[in-house]
Amino acid sequence: MEQVDITIIGAGVVGLAVAAELSGKGREIIVIERHDGFGRESSSRNSEVVHAGIYYSKDLLKTRLCTEGRRMLYELCPRLGIGLKKSGKLIIAIEEEHLPVIEHLKEQAEENGVEGLRLLSRGEVKGIEPKVRAAGGLWSAGTGIIDSHGLMAYLEKKASPDTTFAYNCELISLERKGETYRLRIRDADGEVYEFMSRIVINAAGLGAEDVARIAGIDTEAAGYSIYPCKGEYFRVGGTGGKLFNHLVYPPPTAISLGMHTVVDLQGGMKIGPSAFYVEEIDYTVDEDHREEFYRGARKYLPDLKRENLSPDMSGIRPKLYREGEEERDFVIHHEADRGLPGLINLLGIESPGLTAAPAIGRYVKDMVIGDW
Ligand SMILES: Cc1cc2nc3c(=O)[nH]c(=O)nc-3n(C[C@H](O)[C@H](O)[C@H](O)COP(=O)(O)OP(=O)(O)OC[C@H]3O[C@@H](n4cnc5c(N)ncnc54)[C@H](O)[C@@H]3O)c2cc1C
Repeated sequence: MEQVDITIIGAGVVGLAVAAELSGKGREIIVIERHDGFGRESSSRNSEVVHAGIYYSKDLLKTRLCTEGRRMLYELCPRLGIGLKKSGKLIIAIEEEHLPVIEHLKEQAEENGVEGLRLLSRGEVKGIEPKVRAAGGLWSAGTGIIDSHGLMAYLEKKASPDTTFAYNCELISLERKGETYRLRIRDADGEVYEFMSRIVINAAGLGAEDVARIAGIDTEAAGYSIYPCKGEYFRVGGTGGKLFNHLVYPPPTAISLGMHTVVDLQGGMKIGPSAFYVEEIDYTVDEDHREEFYRGARKYLPDLKRENLSPDMSGIRPKLYREGEEERDFVIHHEADRGLPGLINLLGIESPGLTAAPAIGRYVKDMVIGDW
């Protein structure tokens, strides 16, 4: 039976970043992806924001990987011609009562080593965004927008000398056999193939709990249950001029960073993502949610009109916690302690996973190298 050194499940930005880091070290790698190309799920269904590292406390892995990933992207992208704009971002206090929230965010972000932060008065916010209503704001100069497709295309290319990309192939079983793993994959024609791999990296996003379960882990007991949380976007058009020029974020909620404005690299304007838990993976955007977007965004964009909003796209977060439960960190765990050496599970890689991806790749590489 064919044997490879490393198998990565999932060709989202995280699986690709891991493959890119592990390539060039004389190991044979295979990436298994159920779709016909890379980045068909969360990695192409997000705000494409390069986060500065403001929102989470210093001791979390996601904070560390976000700030490291951001630094890596700002070095890498201009050098390689990957679209990236250090656009800056405004977090606003819509009402006076939100001012302590943004003051707290500034303190926390400074503890995280985020630079380029400045508290703004009502008038200063108007100077930056004349059509935004706010009692004050926090300017983050280190936030940006990235071409996520360009980043993934680069990572796929960087990995390719040592990596086989098995697109249209779904992992259906994963079993420990002696010192290695036996994997079964099914292609689009229903053909099943078997091979062995010494190391298996589960970067399956929304499918990561299923992959961990088929490897024999009691996912509920391990705290690996995934609760999909959908985020829809509405396009902003027909405003007869720009309603906003930057990323403008309202104060964060318990389960999201809030429905913010997005200005993509082509100048297109969107508002989103919303946040609601779902049972099924369905990316359609419900037109009936227009009113919710309109009412939410009007709080800080008073000139917005209902007819300016049209359904755009959606993404689904692989959350490890339900509404009302405590927020969870990224899980990146070597399963040797569960009797599965060489299996590394990545779960709950929601925002800022795109920003953190290059640093996650490096982090996983260091874990894998310990296993060689
Ligand atoms: C609405 C939204 C907005 C966001 N905004 C931002 C942002 O602005 N900035 C930021 O930094 N982050 C953001 N994120 C987070 C970011 O998009 C994710 O953290 C990142 O894309 C995760 O990448 P991934 O590779 O882990 O997952 P994915 O991109 O979901 O990739 C996982 C892959 O695994 C494959 N797979 C699953 N199961 C199997 C199987 N059994 N066999 C084969 N293949 C399998 C899937 O098909 C998929 O392609 C956002 C996320 C969402 C949902």
